[in-house]
Amino acid sequence: MKQSGRPIRSNKCPAERKCGGCQYLDLSYAEQLKKKQKTVEKLLKSYGRVNQIIGMEEPEHYRNKVHAVFDFQKGRGIVSGIYQEGTHHVVPVEECLLEDRRADAIIGSIRQLAKSFKLKAYDEDTGYGLLRHVLVRVGHATGQIMVVLVLGSPILPSKKNFVNALCKLHPEITTILLNVNNKQTSMVLGEKEQVLYGKGYIEDVLCGRTFRISSKSFYQVNAVQTEKLYGKALEYAALTGRETVIDAYCGIGTIGLAAAGHVKKMIGVELNQAAMRDAVVNARCNGIRNADFYQNDAGRFMVQLTESGQKVDVVFMDPPRSGSTEAFLDAVLRLRPARIVYISCNPETLARDLQYLTRGGTLRRESGKSGGKAGYQVAEMTPVDMFPFTDEIEMVCLLKSR
Ligand code: SAH
Repeated sequence: MKQSGRPIRSNKCPAERKCGGCQYLDLSYAEQLKKKQKTVEKLLKSYGRVNQIIGMEEPEHYRNKVHAVFDFQKGRGIVSGIYQEGTHHVVPVEECLLEDRRADAIIGSIRQLAKSFKLKAYDEDTGYGLLRHVLVRVGHATGQIMVVLVLGSPILPSKKNFVNALCKLHPEITTILLNVNNKQTSMVLGEKEQVLYGKGYIEDVLCGRTFRISSKSFYQVNAVQTEKLYGKALEYAALTGRETVIDAYCGIGTIGLAAAGHVKKMIGVELNQAAMRDAVVNARCNGIRNADFYQNDAGRFMVQLTESGQKVDVVFMDPPRSGSTEAFLDAVLRLRPARIVYISCNPETLARDLQYLTRGGTLRRESGKSGGKAGYQVAEMTPVDMFPFTDEIEMVCLLKSR
């Protein structure tokens, strides 16, 4: 959670002063988009054309993944909300401008049930108590809803009654999981997990494909804008059906499987085992036979690929906020695909990686040339507003081999 440092005066949210999740609450949506456009132009214009940012028609309640932490507060009893920035003090939140309304209502009911079932909030300092976090994921297109109760120990008293009561209040819930996290950690989910109700995962439909989403898999939080983002990425890839394509940092395979119908061969690589397994299942469920997924570090995988002599036509890459690595980028420069479609959630690391790719990385140093053919050219870039009211910016960028 970040703090903007600006005076806060929107009155749009009772928690705004302490939460720090929204930086742009005091700006109209049009002003927010303008500001983001300016920021990316300043950072990236020197690499190529920046198109107009793609905004949302209805920019509120877009988050389909909602997390809350439980706490016991004197005078209030059990509360749930978010950590105040830089502290472990819990700011109670009942409703959030960004979060899916169904998720907020479910979390409210869990607070009520916790009181009637006499469940205690977990105390991070002493390790006493039970209820630690709750995570709710909503399938935007399917309406399927997953609730993950994160507990400090594996025993939920009156488990059956609790699950029945919650499902009765919210028949829209399709699966409930119990996750155990008894470690001193800032991670929400622990390793052990047990399905209390339903299938243990939800599905969503994106770009005409059905995706299975587990509790721990990465899945974009704004489904409406994700379709626009991937639509742009596919347009940039300009696939004809003859290409061999890499989907690097592929998560549950969303980009690769959306593109698989337009390529000869799709190869996905992802570090997280649960996400990679979801990708394999997703390929099967969508009847896709030309996609293979590997669990590996993307950089290491790409280096192995260059050594194997594999020919690659297009690389999609969608790294985490920290951006890519020199090992990965050097391998891409060696593989020399005609196009690279770089999706980024952090324009600063994108700028760093674009500089590397346009200069030709270590290839340039090895050949002693001054950039020239070794480097790629940025053809165009489009910002997509995936996170209204915050200062987060998502970009999709097309690079072409010179
Ligand atoms: N393309 C996917 C996921 C993007 S998020 C989508 O749009 O849904 C970035 C993904 O990179 C996450 O799934 C994360 O687990 C994965 N990741 C992080 N570091 C990685 C690495 N070194 N190698 C491969 N994957 C990595």
